[in-house]
Amino acid sequence: MDVEQTIEGIRSRVADARKAGKTVGLVPTMGALHAGHHALIAAGRRGCDYLVVSIFVNPTQFGPGEDYEAYPRTPEEDLAACERLGTDAVFAPSAEEMYAETPRTTVHVAHLTDTLCGRRRPGHFDGVCTVVAKLLNIVRPDTAWFGQKDYQQSVVARRMVRDLNLPVSIAVCPTVREEDGLAVSSRNAYLTPNQRRQAPALYAALRKAEETIRRDRPPAEDVITAVRDHLRAQAPEGQVDYVQIVDPETLADVETTDRPVVVALAVRLGKARLIDNVKVDGPTGST
Ligand code: AMP
Repeated sequence: MDVEQTIEGIRSRVADARKAGKTVGLVPTMGALHAGHHALIAAGRRGCDYLVVSIFVNPTQFGPGEDYEAYPRTPEEDLAACERLGTDAVFAPSAEEMYAETPRTTVHVAHLTDTLCGRRRPGHFDGVCTVVAKLLNIVRPDTAWFGQKDYQQSVVARRMVRDLNLPVSIAVCPTVREEDGLAVSSRNAYLTPNQRRQAPALYAALRKAEETIRRDRPPAEDVITAVRDHLRAQAPEGQVDYVQIVDPETLADVETTDRPVVVALAVRLGKARLIDNVKVDGPTGST
């Protein structure tokens, strides 16, 4: 496995792969690799000839007072996992390598970033889009793999790629969960044992919402109230950031659930801000 810390280095590896007629894939990550990332890497491994995993804790997507410094960093374990999963190259640049000069350019995807996590984390998606655009330009993959756990991120990335005619296809992999349903996340490490016991309430509430929607197609507001009630009862330490039911493509809030929807939530539990979502098909199975 090639490990490259410079843009020039990874470009030259990818150029060699291209010369050999290989297709190229990219799995962008912030490291601290867990089962969710592993699934993306496994999908990437199957989906291209030369698979690059990027590991970069991107400072520009963290707001003031967020956990940039505290974010878990496990470089040795990450490299071992990449190797074991058959990655061809790891691109692990420093912040100085990625942002050699103070950037004067950012990528902003309008509208789709005004809601859900974007409303609570101003500037976050500009940081994400800009770094994803840079990584796509550096590696120039045919396909890049993202996780459904960050649903809004996947929609925003797809839109950016479309709007900017970037020659890459975005693939989205299902959320990987712990046995009790909690979405696997690097930030789960922040939970105290007591908070960890409450955390499965997020997915349990989403599952109940999904069941209710499939059965009764009630007004979105009623489902949101039920999700909040469930969280209050089952995760009493949790502070709900948002519970929203949105159109899967426009991310606009919906009033009715007789159509495809995404139920998404974010909850602060101690030091961790946890997000999760479920996508529910329309009544006829339309997506
Ligand atoms: P991160 O390292 O948290 O920036 O995540 C890198 C990629 O892994 C993103 O596309 C995430 O959506 C994806 N990811 C994170 N957690 C999970 C999970 N539990 N299941 C599937 N994908 C995930």
